[in-house]
Amino acid sequence: MSDKKPILNLVSNGDWLGGGEGPFVIAGPCSAETEEQIMKTGLALRKIPQVRVFRAGIWKPRTRPNSFEGVGVEGLKWLKSLKEETGLATAVEVANEGHVYEALKFGIDVLWIGARTTANPFSVQEIADTLRGVDVPVWVKNPVNPDLQLWVGALERLNNVGIRRLGAIHRGFTTHEKTHYRNSPKWQIPIELKRLIPEIPLICDPSHIAGESQYLREISQTALDLTMNGLMIETHPDPASALSDAQQQIEPAALGDLLNSLEIRVNLGKFSDETLDSLRRESNAVDYELLEALARRINVVKRIGQHKKRHGMAVLQPERWNEVIEDRLKLGSELGLEKKFVKEIYDILHSYAIKVQSDVMNEREK
Ligand code: PEP
Ligand code: MN
Repeated sequence: MSDKKPILNLVSNGDWLGGGEGPFVIAGPCSAETEEQIMKTGLALRKIPQVRVFRAGIWKPRTRPNSFEGVGVEGLKWLKSLKEETGLATAVEVANEGHVYEALKFGIDVLWIGARTTANPFSVQEIADTLRGVDVPVWVKNPVNPDLQLWVGALERLNNVGIRRLGAIHRGFTTHEKTHYRNSPKWQIPIELKRLIPEIPLICDPSHIAGESQYLREISQTALDLTMNGLMIETHPDPASALSDAQQQIEPAALGDLLNSLEIRVNLGKFSDETLDSLRRESNAVDYELLEALARRINVVKRIGQHKKRHGMAVLQPERWNEVIEDRLKLGSELGLEKKFVKEIYDILHSYAIKVQSDVMNEREK
């Protein structure tokens, strides 16, 4: 696999998102359930200026069978009337050739690829092949697993068949560590995507990160603070009765309040002043000290490895590691550092130290 910088031929940001007020928002229910439910939602969403696109899942990828798997093609007819009635552009999730074909037949304006589909290059390629020569905007959610290259690969597959109105949706990742969110945001991954492909519009789906509506605001604010272009938020007229993702959906009125409560901070790009410049110099200097300290630390690790080798000791000494981590967590917290942060750094340091010492053990005597 190649990690080289992707080169995409895109319609640049603003041009296809269309100017407008505030962040670009895609809203609507997790799933279309009845025509009345989507119409009620759409009529309310139409009054929120930030909402540019109406979303609804028609085919639902569910973790276990025998859950509600979407209303299928019937829902596309409802979306057609919703568009006529409200003037809102419509979006659905597509996961295979048949979905793309049906969605386009019913005049759906925007397609998105779900997280489970992005994780499968065969499915993404099938969708891309079906879209060759079709000029429709496509949003690609990150894959469920925290693999940036898989996300980039899906965008490349679509761009290769000529999709130039292409965007990315950050919806969080499945990870083994449990957090209070349904999916871990791992913000560094969308930030890295934007570094690799600066011209790609990137929006955040706080609904699938949060899993519960109480966290939507904080996640949305962080996304905007990281200069994301917009949000995809699940909206339902009666969230408690929703047939999928009930806990994370909010009523249209609550969405309006949430959007109005967000602070839009200006991104002045290359802005700098005396204070910022001097703080950045200070931060650079600390980084250099940090790197030098790390190099010294790894050098000691290596010498310890050589000593262990001479004495036939195993690389991993669990009691010693326990003592180290307890002591460093204590010191870290005395220094005002968050425990989770210190623990993560030491986990990385420890696994690298094990690798370095294993390499020492495997070195042949000269
Ligand atoms: C959805 O948007 O309803 C959905 C299924 O999302 P994801 O692909 O992010 O799980
Ligand atoms: Mn959902």
